[in-house]
Amino acid sequence: MTPHAHPELAGKTVVVVGLAQTGVALARFCARRGARVIVTDGKPADKLAGPIAQLAGVPVTWQLGGHDAHSFSTADLVVMSPGVPTLPEMTAARAAGVEVIAEIELAYRFLDPAATLIAITGTNGKSTTTALTGALCEASGRPTFCGGNLGNMPLIDAVDHPANAPGGLIVAEVAAFMLENCTSFRARAGVLTNITEDHLDRFGTMARYAEIKGRIWDWQRPDDLAIANAADPWTMAETAGIPSQLLTFDSRPGARTERSGPEAGPLGSMTRGRGAVLSADRTHLVLRGVPGAAAEERYPASDLVIIGNHNLENAMAAYLAARGAGVPVDAVRAGARAYRPLPHRMELVGERRDVYYYDDSKGTNVASVAASVRGFPRPLVLIAGGVDKGGSYQPMLEALDDVCKGIVLIGQAAPLIRAAAAAHGVRYPVIDASDMDDAVRRATALCGPGDAVVLSPACASYDMFQNFGHRGRVFREAVAAVSAPGS
Ligand code: ADP
Repeated sequence: MTPHAHPELAGKTVVVVGLAQTGVALARFCARRGARVIVTDGKPADKLAGPIAQLAGVPVTWQLGGHDAHSFSTADLVVMSPGVPTLPEMTAARAAGVEVIAEIELAYRFLDPAATLIAITGTNGKSTTTALTGALCEASGRPTFCGGNLGNMPLIDAVDHPANAPGGLIVAEVAAFMLENCTSFRARAGVLTNITEDHLDRFGTMARYAEIKGRIWDWQRPDDLAIANAADPWTMAETAGIPSQLLTFDSRPGARTERSGPEAGPLGSMTRGRGAVLSADRTHLVLRGVPGAAAEERYPASDLVIIGNHNLENAMAAYLAARGAGVPVDAVRAGARAYRPLPHRMELVGERRDVYYYDDSKGTNVASVAASVRGFPRPLVLIAGGVDKGGSYQPMLEALDDVCKGIVLIGQAAPLIRAAAAAHGVRYPVIDASDMDDAVRRATALCGPGDAVVLSPACASYDMFQNFGHRGRVFREAVAAVSAPGS
């Protein structure tokens, strides 16, 4: 294999758009390679003190509190941090012939083609699938980088990581915003967990959102693996005409008995019979037809501490990706056993007077809340609200039907959720709260012994909080206050 042609950055003018963690990493990366770096952000300098301090001593030109169209249009390269919206300056730069790319695209161009890149996208389950895949890879003893959108490790940091070498494993969580600005990002295994309503405020239509998610496979080659959720029609529609080999995972009970074609067997319902299903009693993940693997492999679900159908889907995707990347069976099992859930995903953060408090702040859209609360083992009061994403709340309300005792609303979306609940004809109380402390107090008041309070907002956080992590921490503090002695 020939290495990618590394873009030569020395002497080039590179505009880095967005000064958060990724922007800091990008600026460092480009400056170290001799580029003239311009860092721009819509926020003024006084709101960016932290990232500016992190770049102390790095030679960059600042353009903060707005963007300079001339800099964009005369640059050699414009690189975008995740989450940055399409700015008029970018469109103008493109029209002037300047390349405008996502951070992951720049990182990709510096990756060793003999390292294995596993990229994971989807509306929900990205972080869990990425972290679990990373754990399976790490257990193999091969140098492993696990990051991207996940945690504090933008993919550009993989370039100087020991995993960026022959035999290394690079696992990256990838957001739609990033795929929108790629031109060659090729993953050896590309996972699409699911596509449900989210970010319609940015992408406008489901069709457009799905098309961008589907780009995870666009630059693959025939030997690469496209790993897709067979139960999700939006995802499967994106597999049409892909250049790589399709492996599906299917958590539906019928998936093991449907038969079709010559490959019919436990995975008979799947394209060419390749991929993963659950065994009838859901005690095993069954993999079949993974290139280089045994005809059929069975993995006990009891290796995993994460629970729920959605997490079994995440696990099937992770197992397929890891096995597809050559991680041995023993390492997959050891990694699965060692894996612990990420914070802010149905995390039990308190218990007081027989009321249980769960932080699911990462439930940032309707489908993720539905997955978290469906079949929840105790009656619950939901705390929801924040910045609306433009979709329907109906799937969440349906999933709440059998388990919900009340909803406490925070943030801008409160009137929308209240109206949706009324239209759904809910019989439990739906009440407003002024802030998180108030929400936790009101939710607690609706609970009886054995009930739960679940923060799973179905919305973005930035009307009241810095991000979902901050929202979760504020919830945890409110829980501590409400459960303090004497309260
Ligand atoms: P992401 O990184 O895509 O936001 P996470 O793994 O962080 O996904 O999970 C976020 C929330 O989404 C979880 O708390 C859970 O409620 C829900 N979730 C996780 N995996 C899935 C899945 N495969 N399908 C639907 N919902 C899921």
